[in-house]
Amino acid sequence: MQLIDGKATAQVIRDEIKAEVDYIVSNGHRPPHLAAILVGHDGGSETYVAYKIKDCEEVGFRSSLIRFEDHLKEENLLKKIEDLNQDPDLDGFIVQLPLPAHINEQLVIEAINPKKDVDGFHPENVGRTVLGLPSFISATPFGITELFRRYHIETSGKLCVIVGRSNIVGRPMSILMSQKSMNATVTVAHSGTEHLESLCASADILIAALGSPGFVKAHMVKEGAVVIDVGTTRVPSADTKSGFRLKGDVVFEEVAPKCSYITPVPGGVGPMTRVSLLSNTLLAAKGNITQ
Ligand code: NAP
Repeated sequence: MQLIDGKATAQVIRDEIKAEVDYIVSNGHRPPHLAAILVGHDGGSETYVAYKIKDCEEVGFRSSLIRFEDHLKEENLLKKIEDLNQDPDLDGFIVQLPLPAHINEQLVIEAINPKKDVDGFHPENVGRTVLGLPSFISATPFGITELFRRYHIETSGKLCVIVGRSNIVGRPMSILMSQKSMNATVTVAHSGTEHLESLCASADILIAALGSPGFVKAHMVKEGAVVIDVGTTRVPSADTKSGFRLKGDVVFEEVAPKCSYITPVPGGVGPMTRVSLLSNTLLAAKGNITQ
């Protein structure tokens, strides 16, 4: 069994990005610039945005944090997005989700200029991804494909089962895995799937993205399979300062001995998600996404 070290891989990619930023700046250009809009004070969102700002600093990007209170009116958020869409000094921005219930998330996503949509959530980017055209690919599926590429894991001709069909993980992952470049045969499972355990046990590549801690057990995994654990659920823990720890969708201890490759939680997919946002921002800054 080989552990897929997302933390170390993400560090390698950050170093590559930093080298590109140094080159851009040494040629007299401004560094890439990412902005994040944060509405309210949700603990998880605060943490994720703080990581994004820290990541930007590490690779030499400029970053901006735009904060609003919970009671922000939807029209004011849309107005801010329009300003950012027009700002020539800004390459990309994200609106941290979830938003307060009175704000229509889909409307907000669709208001973002697709050329600055470095989260890859805009329908134009999703559609272009489906068609195999240059696009911003949402960070988690993008990060997982990088792991396959950098660990030289064979995906062509393999049966890939993805558990979860969300718009940010399962569905885009299924699109990428079925493209010619990855060339896998893909089945997408969800809460309505029958015989899920035996389906998982048939997979050469099993991607668990359902958000149910410890769901995938040893009997659901084929000998020699590649297992990617996307799940990150906060569970109470007396051993950490924060009072919680992250738990994956896979029971690592019993599944790992059966695998050819497996990602841990934490330290697997999470760091790759973070670094993929930087990769998308660099692409935006270089004008590499042509729409
Ligand atoms: P989501 O929007 O809640 O989607 C979960 C999907 O799993 C849904 O399609 C759901 O089916 C399916 N599902 C739930 N329970 C199931 C069950 N018992 N059997 C079969 N399918 C089941 O979640 P998400 O945003 O995709 O996130 C999934 C997990 O990944 C979460 O733990 C999240 O925290 C984590 N995550 C991690 C990263 C990272 O960087 N590591 C990034 C994003 C998300 P239905 O469609 O039928 O409801």
